[in-house]
Amino acid sequence: MQNLHLDTRCVQAGYTPGNGEPRQIPIVQSTTFRYESGEEMGKLFDLESAGYFYTRLQNPTNDYVAAKICALEGGTAAMLTSSGQAANFFALFNLAGCGDHIVASSSIYGGTFNLISVTMKRMGIDVTFVSPTCTDEELNAAFQDNTKAVFGETIANPALTVLDIEQFARAAHAHGVPLIIDNTFATPVNCRPLEWGADIVTHSTTKYMDGHGAAVGGAIVDGGHFDWMAHKETFPGLTTPDESYHGITYAEKFGMGGAFITKCTAQLMRDFGCIQSPQHAFYLNLGLESLHVRMARHCENGQAVAEFLSRHPKVTRVNYCGLPGDPYYERAQKYLPHGSCGVVSFELAGGRASASTFMNHLKLAAIETHVADARTCCLNPATTTHRQMTDEQLAAAGVPAGLIRMSCGLENSQDLIADIAQALDAI
Ligand SMILES: *Cc1c(COP(=O)(O)O)cnc(C)c1O
Repeated sequence: MQNLHLDTRCVQAGYTPGNGEPRQIPIVQSTTFRYESGEEMGKLFDLESAGYFYTRLQNPTNDYVAAKICALEGGTAAMLTSSGQAANFFALFNLAGCGDHIVASSSIYGGTFNLISVTMKRMGIDVTFVSPTCTDEELNAAFQDNTKAVFGETIANPALTVLDIEQFARAAHAHGVPLIIDNTFATPVNCRPLEWGADIVTHSTTKYMDGHGAAVGGAIVDGGHFDWMAHKETFPGLTTPDESYHGITYAEKFGMGGAFITKCTAQLMRDFGCIQSPQHAFYLNLGLESLHVRMARHCENGQAVAEFLSRHPKVTRVNYCGLPGDPYYERAQKYLPHGSCGVVSFELAGGRASASTFMNHLKLAAIETHVADARTCCLNPATTTHRQMTDEQLAAAGVPAGLIRMSCGLENSQDLIADIAQALDAI
């Protein structure tokens, strides 16, 4: 599959039916699997042979879909999780534990920011946040002796900043740790972080991959090029025996290509059980089959809406890396040459009141906390997700009161623009 175009992989990778088998991915709606002998099953529990025994850890439907996402990102192994939050938590916790430290871009999804800065902190894992526009000196200064990973988002939700993946990969590798990239907004159609030096890629498949607002889910892909054994002291969980599996050493037994995902499945899925249901994996695959077609339209609509807004007198600012003049335009030309995503944010003169009038007059775009859906939706953080904050606090957080985040769907762009125009006229 790797030699085929990405479009073809979206449609066909991950599952190839044999003679007379179902054309569509079978939903293996079974919690458990039958074996002829106890010995056979014992081998599965020792990770001596590969196979399924309990859907809390692995299920064939999930593995077909994970294999497709793996082929899209160009990785060596992948797994699905119940949500994007679970994917990011697992990716980080597979490497860092109590007493460890991670470096993360400050421009990331709010849920991930909270996961890292509050919940993982309570688990004894420390973090240093750096700006996505930091210098090499500032980035290098964030590392400590106990740093285990670097984390960032290709295109940040909701700030729409673009990460310099090569810069972050260089710094991570100079300090002997992997770079984890959340590629949710770009999707592998528009950017494949593993090709730019990232080691592990995560997704909230809830967004563009599913793309229809139907199923919450997540994914983790390992690029297979981080040499754990060369950093034996830093990653004892991968490079020393796991007594809960009769003393196997993941990096030795499964190599660079398989160690990370095997450990993540065998330990974290076993203990936390954040498995995606096979039914959701099936929905996700329906989304993936058209991802390459849909992303092009999301980007086309995002670009058209951003250009319209940038010329409108009631709009004081537009954030979209496809607009020349956007602070991230040059970076996007490098990392996202075929388009970024359908999410645009913009600021209205007149703050909260204008935002409220505008949103209430929209007819096509629905008010939702969701993004990356087939249907256009929008949100004013000041009156919803950030409503407890004052105008001054909002400005300091980079979320001005008049800011609107709009996720452009798959409708006709002229209809979207007409809807936006009439809502702007109402202000
Ligand atoms: C939504 C989102 C998440 C969290 O994903 P869920 O599927 O909602 O748990 C993580 N990262 C990014 C970039 C997101 O947009």
